Parts: sequence; structure tokens; C-alpha cells
Amino acid sequence: MTTFLKLLFRNRLAALGAVVLGAIVLLALVTPLLPLADPDVTATGDRFMRPFTEGHLLGTDHLGRDLLSRLLWGTRLSLAVGIAAALVAGTIGSAIGIVAGYFGGRIDNVIMRGVDMLMAFPYILLALAIVAALGPGLLNALIAVAAVNIPFFARNIRGVTVGLAGREFIDAARLAGMGHGRIILTELLPNVASTIVIAMSTTVGWMILETAGLSFLGLGSQPPVADLGSMLGEARAALITNPHTSVVPGVMIFLIVMSINLLGDGVRDALDPRLRSGALTRPRAVTLVDRKGQVPEADQKGLLNIQSLETQFHVGPRIFRAVNEVSLHLNPGEALGIIGESGSGKSVTALSVMGLVASPPGVITGGAVRYAGEDLLSADYRSLRQKRGNNVAYIFQDPLSTLHPLYRVGDQLTEAIQAHHAVPDATARARAVELLKDVRIPNAEARVRDYPHQLSGGMRQRVGIAMALANDPDVIIADEPTTALDVTVQAQILALLDDLRRDRGLAIIFITHDFGVVGQLCDRVAVMYGGRIVEEGPTATILSHPAHPYTKKLMACVPELGGGKRELAAIPGLPPVVSDLPPGCAFAPRCDKATEACRVGEIGFTGSDTHRVRCIHPEEVLA
Ligand code: ADP
Ligand code: MG
Repeated sequence: MTTFLKLLFRNRLAALGAVVLGAIVLLALVTPLLPLADPDVTATGDRFMRPFTEGHLLGTDHLGRDLLSRLLWGTRLSLAVGIAAALVAGTIGSAIGIVAGYFGGRIDNVIMRGVDMLMAFPYILLALAIVAALGPGLLNALIAVAAVNIPFFARNIRGVTVGLAGREFIDAARLAGMGHGRIILTELLPNVASTIVIAMSTTVGWMILETAGLSFLGLGSQPPVADLGSMLGEARAALITNPHTSVVPGVMIFLIVMSINLLGDGVRDALDPRLRSGALTRPRAVTLVDRKGQVPEADQKGLLNIQSLETQFHVGPRIFRAVNEVSLHLNPGEALGIIGESGSGKSVTALSVMGLVASPPGVITGGAVRYAGEDLLSADYRSLRQKRGNNVAYIFQDPLSTLHPLYRVGDQLTEAIQAHHAVPDATARARAVELLKDVRIPNAEARVRDYPHQLSGGMRQRVGIAMALANDPDVIIADEPTTALDVTVQAQILALLDDLRRDRGLAIIFITHDFGVVGQLCDRVAVMYGGRIVEEGPTATILSHPAHPYTKKLMACVPELGGGKRELAAIPGLPPVVSDLPPGCAFAPRCDKATEACRVGEIGFTGSDTHRVRCIHPEEVLA
């Protein structure tokens, strides 16, 4: 709730709307307590008095009634009717929408065709027809305005419900034996509630306006009772001679509708979960770089060289240190594995390389990333964009979310090629087919015309790899590319990456949490924990002689095929929360070798350039 309010008030216009609307609502609430003249008492001698005359702050109308008093009482009435109409329309419309969306099929059809029939009428005409049938009066105007807005809510909520009704949690509720009523109330309603609130907050202003419209035509509030619409209607005759009688209610209608709409837009933005996680601003094209300390000197290591990289997430007052002092280098043609439990900072490290961490909230606060000697963190957007995909390409875990669902895979490959090379369509197409062949997709000529959903998971991941290869990059960063695949497909993908590396001299950073995978593909491996590298060395050495207790525990989690003698270990405890890292070694709370010395100060690396470990009591003492 507090985050909602904070987000809401970060939006200046919404805050302005809230203040204005708050003031108006407050005035309307205290109106009966104010020392006002009776709004309905006529005094024909005092007709059309100007504003700021003695006893009549806003002047009087054509019957000599005090305008201030009529305005406040009228506002009270208009607000009440408009909000009541919105609540009625919102409740009935949402109920209809949920029922139609949940049951689907014939029920949906019957209900929605009825709603369509209502929608087929221009709705102010429909409202007029309803009032004509029921007779003029404020309550009937309310009914009419609510009725014509029901279809809007019904359609809106039905759309959201249809999307939810097929989801697994609804199936689970059915399997648990819940009845329809209970599923609708406890499973669906909480999920559509924010949509209902949004729809209501953006339409209530409109409904106040419609009610005022009906009153203006004499079909809403009846004399002598004032609401804003009827005040405007009565003032119409004196619009030229005594404009203040129309301006006063007109300005009030403007203020109410404007402030409600501004606030409504703010509420919609603040309730949107995608906006809630970050700020109300869009992420930048490149991660924000705000380096406090010195930029490290270039040290000529490798093709891609990450030096003391620090990436943080600044969320409100909390700072998440996702990546801390990470130094890694990658030689041409080499495969480097990065391994660690989920949340250890592997993905953030990888994304920082090309400035792909979403900002806000991500900030790179220190270090350097050098590609062939050039610091990418200080590079401008153009040169970074030039390198994205062309020099350094990415493969992500979930190919279904990487590929666009509505384009054929061939078109997506062509697009990836043409983003960096101005080649004719035919050439790009031929290259796309060739790429699919390279990643061993059978019958590639036909497959280019498939949509992503027509491919199996393994094939989709191959397309993802083909896209990464499209511009012949020197470095591929693969972030858990095989985690979503079954074991046989995983083995094929690994073999494929290994072949590509040998054929093309590709350098690969391979992120995983599985030591078995590392052993198959990687020359070197870096182990991450709590945003830091805790051990780094040649794969063979680390597999046979792990030095960090964490590495050893991590390896003990991998089952051995045909072994069966060893107990399959799990690491007790949980990975640390990176917004609140303990001093000293982050692994100390879960380590059985930890001593007092492990819990204080900074623990540096020991060992050599080839095999180093960040531990005071390593399993193996390194030279
Ligand atoms: P993994 O090693 O599983 O790839 P990540 O690199 O994705 O882990 O995440 C590293 C840490 O950064 C995690 O502790 C995560 O909670 C934190 N983190 C990632 N994205 C955000 C974010 N947008 N806001 C706050 N913290 C984040
Ligand atoms: Mg990850």
C-alpha cells in the first residue's frame, strides 16, 4: 500500500489531481456544516448579482439564489450520483464479465451478444431512451448512466478473465474440488480487482459528465434542487449577459473531471505490476554507469576482460549488491563457465557486459568491461549497439520468450542479420537457411517458414543459437541455455556449441548451475556466490581438486551416473540476500569450516593467476 502511494505521488500530475479532488470532496463533505445561504430560496430582487458582492461570494443566479451555496450543494449531488453510477456499473458489469469469461462457451456467447446489443446504440441516446422510459429524475438518470456503462466493464473484465480462466492455478483449484462460486470469488476476483479499480477510476469522471449532461437537458435533477448539470442548463439563457452563472458550475465540472482523470491515470500506472517493480520511468537503452572510484587500468588480458565489475540495484533506500568486484577474462576460442546457485549474480554479470541490465533500478557502480581493449562502460550508445549481436551475442534460457510469437523464425533471423548488415532480402534469407542448417535443424528450407510455436523446445533453443550466430560474433554469452530442456536435448545443444566453438573459434561464456554441464564444455570455470567470484581455475583442476568449501559442496550436489555409493548432498541454509550481505565471507553462515576470522573484513584471493580462491581455510592449499 505504501509503495502504491509512493509510486502514485511520484507522478506529479496524479498528485495534483489527488490534491484538487481531495479538496473538492472535502468541501462537498462539509457543505452541510458551512454557514451557507439556503440554496433553493429565491429572491427575485437580487437577480444576477456579480461575484464578490456583499453576502454572495460568487454572486447570484437568475432567481437571486446564492451561487456559492448552490455550487457546493450541487457538487455534492453530482459527485454522489456520478460515483454511485460508477460503483453500480462497475459491480454489475464486472460480475457479468467474470461469469462470461469464466464459463466461456455458450454462456459467454449469450451474455456477450446481449452486451453487444447494448453497445450497438450510441450511448447518450440509449441513456436518453432509458430516462424517457423511466421518467425524468436524478435516480433515473443514475440508473441510465450506470446501465449504458455496464457493457464497457463487462467487455473489459471478460477479456482479462478469459486469459486467466485457462491458467493452471484455476485448473488446480478445480482439481482441489472448489465450486464455481468459490473459484470466481477467491481465485479470479483478486486477479481482476486491479483492472476493475483502474477501469472505475478512469471512467468515474466520464460518468459525472454524463449525469451532468442529462441534468443539463432537464432529465436529471429537477428544480429547485441543484446539481452541476442543471445549474449549467438554467444558466444557458444568460450565457452572454451574465456569464458568471455558467462559468461557476462549468469550472467546477472541469476541475472535477480533470482531477479524476489525472488521478485515474496515475492509479492505473501505479497498479501496473511492470511499473511497480522499477520506477515510473522506462528502462534506459543502456545500463546507467555511475563509477565512484577509479576506472581500472587496462591489463591486456583476453578478448573480453571484466575488471572489478560492480553492479547494484537501487530500489528505494535499499541497495542490492548483485555483482561485487568480479574480474574475469575470456580468450578467443575459449569456453568459460560461470557457475553458482540461483541468485548468485551470474545473469547480472553477463548482462552488465553489454549494458543490458535494466536501469532503473540497475546501476554499474565500478570497474570496467573491455572488449579488445575498449572500455564498453564508457562507450556511447551507438558504438555499444553496433557491438551488440555483432561482436558479443547472447543466448537466453527461455527461447519461447526470446522469439517473437507472431513472426516466422526465418523472418526473425533475417531481421537479426539486417540489423547489422545492409544485405538484400534474398541474401539474408539464404543466410537464415544456412544458419538453421548450422545448428542442425532438419529440413531447414521448410522450417524457416514455421512460427515459434510449431517448433519443439530444443529446436527453438537452436533457433536462439542461430540468431546469436547470425552476425558471426566473437563472443557468445549463453545464460543457462539448456536449463529448460530435457537431458538428451541438452546434450545435443552442448555438443553443438562445442562444435561451433571449434569450427568458428567462438569464445563462449557459459552460465549454468550444473557442474555436469561445465565439465562437458568449459576450459575454465568461475564459481560465484553472493555476487562474488569465490574460486576460478581450469575445469579439470577444479573438478578434481576444488579449493573453496562452496565449490566442493556444489559438486557434491551432482549425482554420479552408475555411482550410487555416495550420498547426494544438499547445501543447508539459503543463499544470502544481496541487500544485506554479512561482513567477511558470504558463505561463512553455511560453511562447516568457518571460524571467527571468516566473519570479519574483506577476504582476498589466494593462489595463482590460473587457480585462485577466496577462502581462509581452503580445502586445497594453492601454490
Ligand atoms: P543468477 O545467478 O541466478 O543469474 P541474478 O544475476 O539474476 O542471479 O541475480 C543476482 C541478484 O540480483 C539476486 O540476488 C537478485 O535478487 C538481484 N536482482 C536481480 N534483478 C533485480 C532487480 N531488478 N531488483 C533488485 N534485485 C535484483
Ligand atoms: Mg540467471
